[in-house]
Amino acid sequence: MSDSIFERIAAGELPSHKVYEDAHTFAFLDIGPVTRGHTLLIPRTCYEQLDDVPAEVGAALGAALPRLCAAVKAATGCAGVNVLQNNGQAAGQVVPHVHFHLIPRYNDGGAGDGGAAGVGFKFNWPAGDLTDADAADLKAKMAAALADG
Ligand code: 5GP
Repeated sequence: MSDSIFERIAAGELPSHKVYEDAHTFAFLDIGPVTRGHTLLIPRTCYEQLDDVPAEVGAALGAALPRLCAAVKAATGCAGVNVLQNNGQAAGQVVPHVHFHLIPRYNDGGAGDGGAAGVGFKFNWPAGDLTDADAADLKAKMAAALADG
C-alpha cells in the first residue's frame, strides 16, 4: 500500500469527489476549498515535485489542465481561475505528491472569493527589477541545465 494519500485517493483506496481521470492523471475536489470549486489535478503515481515527473506523465497533466480549467469554469460560472503548483516546502507545498490547484475566482469583492473566511484570496507579489547581468547569468545557467537533460 502506498504512503501517498493522493496516490491512495487516485487508486480509490481513500474517498474523494472525483472530477476527472485518465491513464496518468486524476482530478478531485480539494477538501479545504479556498474558493467554491477548488480542484486538484495529480499524477496517479506519486512524484514529490514537478521536476521529478517523467515527460509522458507531464504531457498527460498538460493535456488535462485546459480541459479541467474549462470544466471548473462551466461548473462554477467563475470569472477566472488561478492555476497554482506549490513545488517544494519553500513554495508552500504541504502534500509531497505533485498537484496542481485550480482555484476559481469570483468578482464579488471577496464574499465568495476567500473560502469560509470570506476575506478574499490574495497574493503578495513583490515584483523586483531584472538586470541585464542577472538575466544573462540565469539564461546561461538554465541553457546548460536544459542541455543536460
Ligand atoms: P499544498 O499546500 O500541498 O499545495 O496543498 C495541499 C492541498 O491538498 C490543500 O489544499 C488541502 O486542502 C488538500 N488536501 C490535503 N489532504 C486532502 C485529502 O485527503 N483530500 C482532499 N480532497 N484534499 C486534500
